[in-house]
Amino acid sequence: MSASLVAEKTGCGAPPVAAARVITERGQREVFCGLTGIVWLHRKIQDAFFLVVGSRTCAHLIQSAAGVMIFAEPRFATAIMEERDLAGLADMNDELDRVVTQLVARRPDIKLLFLVGSCPSEVIKLDLSRAAQRLSRQMMPDVRVLSYSGSGIETTFTEGEDACLASLVPELPAEAPAAAPSLLVVGALAEAVEDQFLVLFAAMGIDRVQFLPPRRARALPAVGPNTRLLLAQPFLANTAHALQGRGATLLTAPFPLGAEGTTEWLRAAAVVFGVDASRFTAATSLPAQRARGAIARAGARLAGKKIFFFPDSQLELPLARFAAREMNMDVLEIGTPYLHRQHLAHEMALLGDEVRIVEGQDVDKQLDRCRAARPDLTVCGLGLANPLEAEGLATKWSIELLFTPIQGYEQAADLAGLFARPLARREVLKV
Ligand code: SF4
Repeated sequence: MSASLVAEKTGCGAPPVAAARVITERGQREVFCGLTGIVWLHRKIQDAFFLVVGSRTCAHLIQSAAGVMIFAEPRFATAIMEERDLAGLADMNDELDRVVTQLVARRPDIKLLFLVGSCPSEVIKLDLSRAAQRLSRQMMPDVRVLSYSGSGIETTFTEGEDACLASLVPELPAEAPAAAPSLLVVGALAEAVEDQFLVLFAAMGIDRVQFLPPRRARALPAVGPNTRLLLAQPFLANTAHALQGRGATLLTAPFPLGAEGTTEWLRAAAVVFGVDASRFTAATSLPAQRARGAIARAGARLAGKKIFFFPDSQLELPLARFAAREMNMDVLEIGTPYLHRQHLAHEMALLGDEVRIVEGQDVDKQLDRCRAARPDLTVCGLGLANPLEAEGLATKWSIELLFTPIQGYEQAADLAGLFARPLARREVLKV
């Protein structure tokens, strides 16, 4: 059955049965903590600020991960909590209040402040959600203070975005009674990508579209029983659950990577909003065709090449589906830190039942498999990339796939280019 027929037959509320083979591994992991999400989230809500309550290690991680931002007025910082015993907790709350008060006085542009928890024991002793409530009361109505955890004990890499967006859900206004159905696209996307999707939705006649996170803290989208959720990222399990708790209905679909994923993602919205087939085709066929042509050019050297995914960003399944089905790559293994079977059911069906999916990680065993398979390209975290490169394997840092706009038709060729570049570089080096 073709990909489009899968989506057409199943519609958006009934994912096909997952057929791919899944192995679970538990062992040592090599993944960033959830603080990393700040690096892309701080660009999204333009009047928000992320204050990491943490150690010098946390400050160092954020500084180095966001090194490129060093010349910009930063929208994140770290309040470093030194070693304290329990008796020092009152002081620590005072110190946090003092840091926040100073920050807000110096930066009146801040309308939404996230206190981001981390894993040092002195931070764990602090009740950040109570601190956020206390500070919010003091700063009402100018600044709203929320909290979430980016701790490496509780979160990996992209789970930081999930925790951040989930903390926003209770703040979202309720939709008006008897409101017309609206679409809420959930997950941080580049603004240019949001604008392109708005044009496509408008061409289909869907004009009540909102995004979470919004561009401004005061522009929080309304949510309720007439809200239809379309996830733009596959790692938002808690956020989706919280929005469903507010009455919203989740549409499941492949994720909008590549021409195929973008078409099927848009189709999920089209089906539920009653867009007729000819209008859907008129809105999507040309950009999809352009994207396919651009992918073919950008990814020409990738056909038949072997690719191996280490678990990192939770984007691995949609990326592997794109690599296999639109770039004709041979997917050897797809590692993913977590596998949300409902959200990823369409991706698993498109991948088929031959591909090896590994949920969780035992890094040494996975490295052994990767070395034995000698893939042409390995998608992995920063910590594994250098050793693998030193062994002669071409790598792609998975974090780049979070920084770079890759969703939608117009970005599909850039996504193919991200996979192609490490191979091109090696060819140049050989010459
Ligand atoms: Fe900070 Fe923990 Fe992340 Fe290390 S793993 S940077 S201590 S939050």
